[in-house]
Amino acid sequence: MVRGRVPTVIRNEGDAVREVIDTPIRGQYDTIVCGGGVAGAAAAAAAAREGARVLLIEKSVVLGGLATNGLISYYEPICTGTGKKFMTGIVEELFRLAICYGPDTLPAEWKGLPEEAAGEARCASVFSPALFAMALDKWLLEAGVEILLDTWVVQTLGEGREVEGVVVENKTGRSAYLAKTVIDTTGDADLFFRKGLPSVTGINYLSYVAYVTDQKQMQEGIDSENPLKGKRWVNPGSNLWGKGHPEGYPTMSGVTAEEVTKFVLDGRAALFEKVAGQDRFSRDVIAIPTMAQFRKTRRIQGRYTLSEEDCGKHFEDSIGVATDFYYRDRLYELPAGILFHDDCPNLFTAGRTVSADGWAWDVTRVIPVAVATGQAAGVMAALRAKEGIEANEDGIRKIQEALKGQGVRLHIK
Ligand SMILES: Cc1cc2nc3c(=O)[nH]c(=O)nc-3n(C[C@H](O)[C@H](O)[C@H](O)COP(=O)(O)OP(=O)(O)OC[C@H]3O[C@@H](n4cnc5c(N)ncnc54)[C@H](O)[C@@H]3O)c2cc1C
Repeated sequence: MVRGRVPTVIRNEGDAVREVIDTPIRGQYDTIVCGGGVAGAAAAAAAAREGARVLLIEKSVVLGGLATNGLISYYEPICTGTGKKFMTGIVEELFRLAICYGPDTLPAEWKGLPEEAAGEARCASVFSPALFAMALDKWLLEAGVEILLDTWVVQTLGEGREVEGVVVENKTGRSAYLAKTVIDTTGDADLFFRKGLPSVTGINYLSYVAYVTDQKQMQEGIDSENPLKGKRWVNPGSNLWGKGHPEGYPTMSGVTAEEVTKFVLDGRAALFEKVAGQDRFSRDVIAIPTMAQFRKTRRIQGRYTLSEEDCGKHFEDSIGVATDFYYRDRLYELPAGILFHDDCPNLFTAGRTVSADGWAWDVTRVIPVAVATGQAAGVMAALRAKEGIEANEDGIRKIQEALKGQGVRLHIK
């Protein structure tokens, strides 16, 4: 017989429970990346390419986050909207990876991702979430990233100005991992929030995007010789602007367990109501999302907050560029200060939690821009861990050199 070890003293003190816990330290890394969505994947690979020993921790068992588990399998444009490819580095690399094993819907003029293409179409594509997720495993392992799945990062370690690692919970139990730098790519800035750093919550309309098919759709897949066209998205909730949001239904931030639960159960119930009464041989629901589809839950309030007024502006400390997925020819430079807060300089974020406000938050949260900030956070975290380089006047040049070395475009011109 084997008995579990119980290293915890738990006392019920009425309005709170007091815990005294011995948490074993199970590893030591240069950089720990918390959350394996597209931002976390890019951050982990970029840090590893700078020579850092990297651990990527993901709470589900599939990498890719909203782009795979969330079924948001549309890579928004990487071009200017005026016929020029614009975003480079891992943004382009992951775009190629997302479509290299499965079908795509790239416009003919953008096939092969050339530098320029004539016509109105933007350089964007639907991809297979399952094939992208499997490709991500291989891509990250080849980059030398160590991966821990089914593991929930609970909080950062250390009471001082700098974080010293993270505490996790998983099948093994509760463990600590030490790190010189940590990247919060949880999509919800959970680690910044739990460390008491300033953050801002967003609002979300109901969303429940699933993949469905029927005889007509399957025929379309066959006729077009493209399996992606053999299925379609259905969303009984709302679009980005709130169109379709049920009347009287609350908007939510999605930063409490109760809100996440309500949002998912209500979205799923709405889909079920839509399909349950249909002839069961007439259609099938191929995939339902395995994570809540919140667009903007919580983002950090960093050293700098990007806004729509920054569109087209030059930043000396730019760590990458972004193109607006909706409006053509609206281009942004991304200042380093959107990725961290000065009160905790070795904790970074990337993806849908960077410090950006209003429409700029929407511009920065989509897949290609989440990848761009992920790559930048990875390089910054690795250089800090390996060489003590900070994002100050001296350090930013070295960070930018490393990013250029990884193929990143830093400025609009
Ligand atoms: C309805 C909807 C439609 C959208 N449409 C598009 C679109 O068409 N095109 C587009 O490009 N973008 C779109 N987006 C936006 C885009 O999908 C996301 O913003 C982007 O994928 C975010 O990537 P991320 O890595 O920052 O975060 P996420 O994808 O949220 O990844 C976060 C990861 O962290 C993990 N995690 C969270 N907490 C923990 C923890 N404590 N410990 C360990 N792991 C943790 C999660 O499981 C997840 O894997 C849409 C979003 C929504 C919701």
